[in-house]
Formats: sequence, structure tokens, C-alpha cells
Amino acid sequence: MSLTSVGGNMSRWKCGIEGCDGRFEDAESAVIHQTVEHERHECKVCGTIVPEGYFAIRHAFDEHTRAEFVRAYDADSSAVRIREDVKDAVEADADLNSVVETLREQGAL
Ligand SMILES: [Zn+2]
Ligand SMILES: [Zn+2]
Repeated sequence: MSLTSVGGNMSRWKCGIEGCDGRFEDAESAVIHQTVEHERHECKVCGTIVPEGYFAIRHAFDEHTRAEFVRAYDADSSAVRIREDVKDAVEADADLNSVVETLREQGAL
């Protein structure tokens, strides 16, 4: 459950799931890559299967409390903060409606 904004102009987003070094110029491409190219993630709090990467992060923080996340993922507060920052950055950068549309067209959601 990873995604990093790496700064700079090009290849600003790094996938980072299980050592994947995919880099992307925009958040849309990064989220689509994570959803299409990676195995689904099973939420450790509720067992729901969600796409890896951004959607897994969004699920964890929209559906569960920070405390539940910390307990289930054996995470600490800095792990929470990093993911909250990524979620905010993706939401600021990406047109998520068009991402979801694209993924539905591809049958990936
Ligand atoms: Zn990847
Ligand atoms: Zn869940």
C-alpha cells in the first residue's frame, strides 16, 4: 500500500508497491498503473478486496479510523501521516472521476 510523490517536474510519482519502481508524470497514470498492474489488496481491517495503492489508502482512511489502521497494519503515526499526505496530494493532482471512468471502461474496477 504505497505511492510516493517524489518532487521535480518529470516522473513525479513513484509506485513503490512491493519494490515496483514505476514512475509517472501525473497522479492519474500512477493510480491507473497501480489498479491495473498490481494484485488487489485485502484490507487488514475488514477483509474487503480493494485495488492496491491509492485506492487501498483511500479505503483505509475513508472506511476506518486511524486507530484501526494503526492496529491492523502495525503502523505508527508517521506511517499514517505519509499516507494521508499521499492521499491529499493525489486528490489535489488527479481528476479522480476521469480515473474511475477510465478504469471502469477497462473493466478494472
Ligand atoms: Zn507499480
Ligand atoms: Zn477495510
